[in-house]
Amino acid sequence: MRDELRDLYQEVILDHGRSPRNFRRLENPTCLAHGNNPICGDMLVVYLDLDQAGRIEDLAFQGQGCAISMASASMMTEVLKGKTLAEANKLFECFHDMCTRDDFDPAKPGGCDVDAMERLSMLSGVREFPIRVKCATLAWHTMQAAVKGEQEISTEGAP
Ligand code: ZN
Repeated sequence: MRDELRDLYQEVILDHGRSPRNFRRLENPTCLAHGNNPICGDMLVVYLDLDQAGRIEDLAFQGQGCAISMASASMMTEVLKGKTLAEANKLFECFHDMCTRDDFDPAKPGGCDVDAMERLSMLSGVREFPIRVKCATLAWHTMQAAVKGEQEISTEGAP
């Protein structure tokens, strides 16, 4: 394994990949979606329980894939619990920027949830590996699809 790749697979990522948090199905979810990243072979299902006000009461996922995709899904379930959908979408925007932009700054005014971004920053190494960005964002795309009422999403052809 090359050094940079080893850095990407930091201990935290490996830990989440081996023992993903909230790795279960919800019995009666408000919504769910299947996400597929054919480039890498990552497949997962994201379940959400929303309350009347659109707050994420609970979320969980199941599936299989590379350590990055599993770790990212695991971390996502941790940071999104208790967030509103608006906050979740904003956080995805920030996370996506973190994964793709060299000039990303979580502390910029009007910006991102700093605590959440600090936890997600473990995955910022994917910036060096564009193909891995799809692994890291799969769970988030799937979460958004579920909320929009789409049952299936694929990273194929997605930006
Ligand atoms: Zn992957």
